[in-house]
Amino acid sequence: MTDARQDRVADFRSDTVTKPTPAMRRAMAEAEVGDDVLDGDPTVRRLEEYAARWLGKDAALYVPSGTMANQIALGSWLRPGDEVIAAEDAHVLLYEGGATGFLHGAQSATLPTMRGAFDEAALRARVRPDFIHCPPTALICVEQTHMGSGGSVVTSDALTMVRRVADERGLPVHMDGARLANAQVASGIPAAELASCADSVSVCLSKGLGAPVGSIVAGDADFLERAKRVRKRLGGWMRQAGVIAAGGLYALEHHIERLADDHALAKQLAERLDALPGLACDPAGVETNLVLVGVDHPRHDPASLSAALADHGVRVMPLSSTHLRFVTHMDVGEADVERLGEACALLLDT
Ligand SMILES: *Cc1c(COP(=O)(O)O)cnc(C)c1O
Repeated sequence: MTDARQDRVADFRSDTVTKPTPAMRRAMAEAEVGDDVLDGDPTVRRLEEYAARWLGKDAALYVPSGTMANQIALGSWLRPGDEVIAAEDAHVLLYEGGATGFLHGAQSATLPTMRGAFDEAALRARVRPDFIHCPPTALICVEQTHMGSGGSVVTSDALTMVRRVADERGLPVHMDGARLANAQVASGIPAAELASCADSVSVCLSKGLGAPVGSIVAGDADFLERAKRVRKRLGGWMRQAGVIAAGGLYALEHHIERLADDHALAKQLAERLDALPGLACDPAGVETNLVLVGVDHPRHDPASLSAALADHGVRVMPLSSTHLRFVTHMDVGEADVERLGEACALLLDT
């Protein structure tokens, strides 16, 4: 995208900031709709069937957000007092407002990961013994791509291992696949294959895929029955949702392959910033559309640098006291990376 207007803001905060394209808006305006609770909405049904096929699952549900998709899955697998195993930085535990405890009365057992992959022995040891004093382990969660390590693709080997340990102990696996489409494009492995280790999987339509609203949660027929009940309890069942579902369907049909552009741009951004004084990232480790950048500079920390960048028309999210997070998506392009690079060079000049 080459937009040189001075009032333009280069927004690298998140891939959720994307706006629907004219073609997507047309699909939304023309969507056939119905009462999805009473009779079924034809466009929602098409989206759910399309998503289920893509994910290699029996069926899928369209829901308002990724958080709700994950929490519907957790609510379908967990009972109060159960324990869920997840990465120590998992979105389901860290960025969903404590929903696991608030909604399901479950607790968590966490593990460090290597780019989203558990250590096999550590995972096996984390599953509680069948012992009256211990909470029953009831679910293992994996995140694809893994946000905490900067959008790493969790490898097929790592996923197969999780399935093996789950099978040994008779446990279900949930995949938080918010950015599963990015993993598919980066690895060349179809989403259905990446999700085959999981009994349930969630996917965000409103991140890199560019839809304005919504997520998918998918699984087998039994899971779907329970998931529908949880969705109802959470108030997530919508009426003429075909208007927004059409954006999601358009995104799945047209916006998956183009994620390769976001990944290339993220690598370019990482190379540009890594070369600047006070900034450090690992361009070779950038696999998808997230770039974590360490800030170690005499005048700036992540918060002050992001505030200063805002004055230059560049928006970015501080992830911690040491790191900024940059996200590429369909509404930023090379000109925005150029502007970011120039602003950083100016601000960090020593
Ligand atoms: C964005 C995201 C979600 C869902 O977040 P919502 O804001 O509720 O859509 C879930 N998991 C991961 C890893 C995410 O990045």
